[in-house]
Amino acid sequence: MDRLVDGFGRRFRYLRLSVTEVCNFRCTYCLPDGYRKTEPHAFLDLAEIGRLVDAFGASGVGKVRLTGGEPTVRRDLGKIIRRVAEAPGVSKVALTTNGWNLSRHIADWRAGGLTNLNVSIDSLDPDAFRRITGHDRLAAILDGLDGALALGVPSVKVNAVLLRDSGTDAFERFADFVRERPVAVRFIELMRTGDNAEFFARQHLGGQALTGWLEARGWTPVARGTDDGPATEYAHPDHAGRLGLIAPYAPGFCDGCNRLRVTARGKLRLCLFGEGGVDLRDLLGRDDPQALASRISGALVGKAAGHRLAEGFSGDTRQLAQVGG
Ligand code: SAM
Ligand code: SF4
Repeated sequence: MDRLVDGFGRRFRYLRLSVTEVCNFRCTYCLPDGYRKTEPHAFLDLAEIGRLVDAFGASGVGKVRLTGGEPTVRRDLGKIIRRVAEAPGVSKVALTTNGWNLSRHIADWRAGGLTNLNVSIDSLDPDAFRRITGHDRLAAILDGLDGALALGVPSVKVNAVLLRDSGTDAFERFADFVRERPVAVRFIELMRTGDNAEFFARQHLGGQALTGWLEARGWTPVARGTDDGPATEYAHPDHAGRLGLIAPYAPGFCDGCNRLRVTARGKLRLCLFGEGGVDLRDLLGRDDPQALASRISGALVGKAAGHRLAEGFSGDTRQLAQVGG
């Protein structure tokens, strides 16, 4: 049942739902001065999230990723995971987190139906990790990740932003990291947002630095699934895990777009780097799934062919914490 199709024939089976704008980290490229409250915290509550995911599930969305801000700052995250897992049609419940308190909660989240876990770890060098995130917690986060593997979470991945400072040392450390662990580490090319132009100019590194390194060492690209994100992953016979690249500046990146976003305040965003959005909030407080589903599908005619990052245009996205990365 593919009700969500845009004017370019792209089908949407994957929703990224931000559950908060708040974050407890200070990543250099995202919230270098930490999160600052600018508006009251009127984030979607559990009942609103329930109606939202029911409507997306009924419209053919089978995978929902919870993101933010930092989703784990919400005390009701366990309940949210359970509610999303109950939505008819939704078979994959994913979480993107900085790993804060992961080891404490992962068993509960897994029992609640979490199937896909992405942990953001920008460096395996503890000093560099602290410099990037503002927290000396690398060891605790890695414990949480290994806890997820031990519990059998079906998909465990790592996101690492590709930074000029990290260099090939980062590739070597992560290649070692996945030698025995069945984990995919995906480097994300740094994206320029409204707030990080100067940082971007200093730290952006093209993805070819990674792909050239991988190909020279016998890593080969593997095929993607239909509800996968935009990463190209590489495998190697001597490594249990994979290394990959998300290259938003590559030509054709948006051609295979399969995901929609909803902000923590209930706005449908058709593109991470678009402008405005379609407010769904007035329909989330009452039971009218038909109206909700038709507003969502109607909005898709306005989805642009692609972002214009290469022209230096980031829409109204000041940083990714505000929209849900
Ligand atoms: N706080 C959670 C986390 O860090 O995993 C979820 C939200 S965060 C915005 C989602 C992902 O976006 C993280 O992997 C983060 O590293 C990445 N990210 C944030 N800003 C970025 C930027 N300007 N360019 C590339 N990736 C970015
Ligand atoms: Fe927080 Fe995630 Fe942004 Fe880092 S990338 S500051 S953890 S929202």
